[in-house]
Amino acid sequence: MPRCSWWSRAVVALAISFVLVFANRVLAEGPDRIRPGSNILKDAIAAALERSATFRSLAERIERSDLIVYLTCNRFESVTLAGRTLLVAAQPGLRYVRVQVLCELPHSGLVAIVAHELQHVVEIASATDVVDDASMVRLFSAIGFSRQQVPRPKQFETPAALEIGGRVRREMDQSPPANTLARRDSGERSARKSGD
Ligand SMILES: [Zn+2]
Repeated sequence: MPRCSWWSRAVVALAISFVLVFANRVLAEGPDRIRPGSNILKDAIAAALERSATFRSLAERIERSDLIVYLTCNRFESVTLAGRTLLVAAQPGLRYVRVQVLCELPHSGLVAIVAHELQHVVEIASATDVVDDASMVRLFSAIGFSRQQVPRPKQFETPAALEIGGRVRREMDQSPPANTLARRDSGERSARKSGD
């Protein structure tokens, strides 16, 4: 078994601190590559970054990718559709994705659908050969399943995206917003004060 020399340990430590610094930067400044087109989406992303570790790792994975993600509100022709992810353009080293979500959803539902669609973005990020409709269909036929019988327009779903949406929603539910905690804390303090 190779011995772990001091410098290789240093490299590992450096890599770990880079990841931590990177995660903190995404949390502090917001992701560069995910570009929300409205305040409601900006707020949903800020809340999810603060309260969901799964959402943070999605954002960090996208930050390390060659994708730019435009996130916009949309109304869909089908009542069963709340979000979709489209590849808009691709050039060497840079691909553009549009994520459309139904912004009328309640806050936790909106965050869950954004997370669900960002998992699809991560799936595209992991497949650098996806550059057009044909390669998108190839990828999602391999990792997912078709959502409808009618072949056009093609709609796919993946088990990973279904799982991630639910997981982020649960993490959000288990981690109340900071201002709720602050209110609860000050409420308890004033209750204690009045009891003195
Ligand atoms: Zn999906």
